[in-house]
Amino acid sequence: MGKILSIRRRPHYISPMLQTDTRIERERKTVEAMIRLFCAGHHGGRGLCRKCEELLAYAGKRLDKCPYGKDKPTCAHCPVHCYSPGMRDRVREVMRWSGPRMIWRHPVLAAFHLLDGRRKVPTLPAPKGGTRK
Ligand SMILES: [Zn+2]
Repeated sequence: MGKILSIRRRPHYISPMLQTDTRIERERKTVEAMIRLFCAGHHGGRGLCRKCEELLAYAGKRLDKCPYGKDKPTCAHCPVHCYSPGMRDRVREVMRWSGPRMIWRHPVLAAFHLLDGRRKVPTLPAPKGGTRK
């Protein structure tokens, strides 16, 4: 667990508010921000359209069930593919499009997401759930 040390040395001035957020909460905010960006750019309505809302709800549910809990890697690095194939494609499309735009719209979330992405994926004692929907 020596790795934790370097994590704690992250510059906390980035955003004091987010210090208390767990990685999961952060990931939740990140995915929500990405889906909102994507929807606004593609489906053009006010708020989320039904499909994007459904995707967001699905992503939230997956996060609730994430076997990694607080040690969760970012989804792009996660070895447990917990999304159903269809949803996975959709969320990938969202992330491909919104990812680069996040830097401008949500620099703090984007920065944390990049930092989180550098963490090594923790080894699960008994990985399961790879086939869950
Ligand atoms: Zn939409």
